[in-house]
Parts: sequence; C-alpha cells; structure tokens
Amino acid sequence: MTVRWLEAVCGICLTVSVSCQAGNNLDAVIQPRIVIVIDDVGNNLAQGRAALALPGPVTYAVLPYSAHGRLLAIAAHELGKDVMLHVPMANDQNLKLGPGGLTPDLSETRFKEILNDDLDAVPYAAGLNNHMGSLLTRQRVPMKWVMEVAKSRNLFFLDSRTTRGSVAWSVARKEGIPALSRDIFLDHVQTEAFLSQQFIQAVKIARKHGSAIVIGHPYPITTTFLEKAIPALDEAGVQLVSAPALIMQKQQAELLTKINKKSYEVARPPSAKCTSSQAYGCNE
Ligand SMILES: [Zn+2]
Repeated sequence: MTVRWLEAVCGICLTVSVSCQAGNNLDAVIQPRIVIVIDDVGNNLAQGRAALALPGPVTYAVLPYSAHGRLLAIAAHELGKDVMLHVPMANDQNLKLGPGGLTPDLSETRFKEILNDDLDAVPYAAGLNNHMGSLLTRQRVPMKWVMEVAKSRNLFFLDSRTTRGSVAWSVARKEGIPALSRDIFLDHVQTEAFLSQQFIQAVKIARKHGSAIVIGHPYPITTTFLEKAIPALDEAGVQLVSAPALIMQKQQAELLTKINKKSYEVARPPSAKCTSSQAYGCNE
C-alpha cells in the first residue's frame, strides 16, 4: 500500500509545475507543506504514546481534564513536539462534551473562565482547535469570545471545520488571530485504503495551494499508516511542518508580500509621466 501511495503522490508531483502553483501567492512558491494534527489526545495512554512516537513535527491536540492529557502534553513538549488545546464545543447531535465543554448558553464571563481553565489544564498549548463544535462554531458571538481569549494568551486558532457553516476561521481573522482551517479528515473511515486516499488528497491540496492541514486521531490504524506515510513525504518533495511553524511561515509570507508591494509602489515612476493615451489604468 505504501509503494502504491508513494507512486500516486510522485505521479502528482510530476504533473504540477511550480509556475502554475505559484501565481501571485508567495506562500505557494515554497515547498508544499503538510500539517498533521492528532486530535483527541489524552483519553488513552498507550495510543497517545504511540502517536507521540510518530516521526517529525506532528502536532498534538489534547483534551482538557482527560485522564492522561497533562502527562501526554508534557511528554510531547519534551520530545520537541507542538501541543494544542482540543476544546470541546457544543454540537448539533447533542453528543456529550465532557469536562471543559463550551456551550451557547454560558455567559461571557463563565465562557471565558472555562476556556482559560481548559488552557491551563493543557501545558504548553500554543494554540487551540475545536473538538466537535458543529453548533457553536456557527455562532459569531461565542467565536469572538474564543478569539478574545486566544488573543490575550497569544495563541493561534485552527478551525477543525466540523460543519460547513463554521464562522470560526473568519472570526479569528477578523479579530487578528493567526488562524488555520482543516482541509482533510484522515480517518473517519478506518481502513488503510481510505486513509491512503485521504492522504493523497492532502498532498494534492498542498501542491495546489502551498499547504494542507490534515486532522487524524490516535487510532492504531492511523498511527501505523502515518509511520509509513510521513517518511514517504520527503521523497515526494512535501515538507511536514507543525501548526505553529506553518502559522509563522504564513505570517512571514504575508509580510513579504506587503513589503514587496510597498517597494513596487515606491519604485514606480510618478503618474505625471502618463501620456493621455495611457490615462486609463496608468495608476493601477
Ligand atoms: Zn475531537
């Protein structure tokens, strides 16, 4: 399966040229990057430890107050891996949220108190993403509260996008929070064929847009798959980066774009040189 997977990925890289990926987007010019986030870390110690042993800068989203969450967050940090809070949010199916859950009926004060306590329960959390949340992430006001807490603690936000109607990413951007949005769920069907198909899709997205965000879980089948798939990324010319690293790279790319735009404007000849025949669009 790995060989077939690698062939498929390399086949993709031969058919996409750098120039057609790049366009005007500086972010897409550099090597395609993939972020892999392992959600729901903390309930199962053995599965959590196996996921932590994955090679490279995988990112771990830890459930607050879970039986082994604190221990696994510390262990991840000691291994040089990045940690996030995986914050339970209200969902349309009324599934149980567990401790530290955020719901729409909470007052602003209580909502922020719970979120701050959740963050304190997960050491080294550099950002947060939603666990479930199909109900809450469609609501602008609670999402604004999430982003205000994120801002006060200098955190980034990853929208897990558990619903098409999520406004979390756009609220984060509006509030000036560094934000990412999930592209691919890796393992909601737990077969090797499905994981393989999803991973290939993620590589295609990374090649087209410069990066892709993949979310998986510490299931044994996922860990076994990623043990083989992550080393194969190198050969396919795709770089595995952590969520905070991608945030930083995107911020640098945005800054470069701004600087380039400014120096282009400064270097341009003054508009007085426009002739009448150039009048339309000479200031564009
Ligand atoms: Zn989750």
